[in-house]
Amino acid sequence: MLSCVKTALAKVEVLDIPTPTPGPGEIVVKSTMATVCGSDMHFLDEGPTELLVALYPSLAEFMAGLPGLPMGHEGVGTVHAVGEGVTRFQPGERVCCSCLYGCGKCVQCYTGDYSICTGGGRTLFGTQSEYYVIPFADINAAKVPDEVSDEHAILATDIMSTGFAAIERAEMKIGDSVAIFAQGPLGLCATAGARVRGAGLVITVESVPERAEMSKKFGANVVINPKEKDPASEIMSLTNGQGVDVSVEAVGLQETFEQATRAIRRGGTVSSIGVYGILPQVSMATMAPSFYHRKVVTTFCTSGHVRLNHLFDLVRYGNVDLSALFTHRMKLSQAAEAYDLFRDKREGVLKIALTP
Ligand SMILES: [Zn+2]
Ligand SMILES: [Zn+2]
Repeated sequence: MLSCVKTALAKVEVLDIPTPTPGPGEIVVKSTMATVCGSDMHFLDEGPTELLVALYPSLAEFMAGLPGLPMGHEGVGTVHAVGEGVTRFQPGERVCCSCLYGCGKCVQCYTGDYSICTGGGRTLFGTQSEYYVIPFADINAAKVPDEVSDEHAILATDIMSTGFAAIERAEMKIGDSVAIFAQGPLGLCATAGARVRGAGLVITVESVPERAEMSKKFGANVVINPKEKDPASEIMSLTNGQGVDVSVEAVGLQETFEQATRAIRRGGTVSSIGVYGILPQVSMATMAPSFYHRKVVTTFCTSGHVRLNHLFDLVRYGNVDLSALFTHRMKLSQAAEAYDLFRDKREGVLKIALTP
């Protein structure tokens, strides 16, 4: 089968590798669509594969006998084969899996926090392949209803879930003001999530013109270009010197995190969802306006089949349409090109649908 494989630092190649077979508790999915995500760029560009194996030891077994690391954690397809002990799935059913999977048996999984599993869960790999394995499938995979497109199923596996969770974990109230720093695919999902939950004023920060335009479509009232104005000062003046109730960091940079801490009102909440990658630490100023009596919450993609079904219901019944995020369509065989396009943010790219 064809698979997009990381063969060296910052290098992917589409190679012919063996089709996987399901072990106990696993299903093998025949892909109908996958996509490239900002996290893929971290995995690809920020260090050799050995670093990832140190982070996720189970990747060593996953990669055994392969020419590198099969890439991709966002995907959708149909069940091709069902492993021993799987009870919820049959061949032919349309399914997807949260990008972070849990074991279902550790303390975190028992409390529903599958994405921070300590019992063998990790980031899914290999969705940018013709076939891929979903581990602990009964916990982590969900059947996709007919009304939910492949595009929306893919978004539910990661950035829609994470972006919406940024707003949920900040406990945003109806009518609250929200600022969202960066309007890449993830930040745009946070903007849509703020609207879904009933935000009042939504201010976003973005300098790429296509992304600023999309931000307005997704519900932003004001888009600040950080190359023209200091975002935190501008947000203060837009909120009568108070600051917003909730500010979301959606790119994973020290600078935007600091801006997010400076843009909230006293007692407000900073919600961080950006992936900081190899940045070893982020810090925040401790002077009175930005530090005391604030809440800071961080969110990893909220995962599991119950979560996926909730997001599907928003698409089916809640009038949520995020399909405009898919700006490009390419073949899996063009995956290396897709990575270059996404890395360079060319042609207004947000999400690239990769089909076999
Ligand atoms: Zn992702
Ligand atoms: Zn677990």
